[in-house]
This record gives sequence, C-alpha cells and structure tokens, in this order.
Amino acid sequence: MYPAPHADDRSYYECRNCGHRKVTDSLGRCPKCNGRTRNIAVARE
Ligand SMILES: [Zn+2]
Repeated sequence: MYPAPHADDRSYYECRNCGHRKVTDSLGRCPKCNGRTRNIAVARE
C-alpha cells in the first residue's frame, strides 16, 4: 500500500473583490481586504 494523497476536504476560496485565493475549510471574509469570498473548484496540479 502507498500513502493516501492529501485529504481533499478543503475548499478553494477566492475573494470577489481583490482575487486573493486561499485553501481552507471555510473563509467568510478575505484576510487582505475583508471582501466577500466565493467557493471555487479545487485546482488540481
Ligand atoms: Zn480580498
């Protein structure tokens, strides 16, 4: 067996105001501009 990949239980959030992105469980406000954020698809590399 090989180690399981990183858990994908976190979502990708993007600020609708400044575009700042952050991967976290939840993000109510942008830490940079305090703008509203939206949940976007997790980007796989
Ligand atoms: Zn912002």
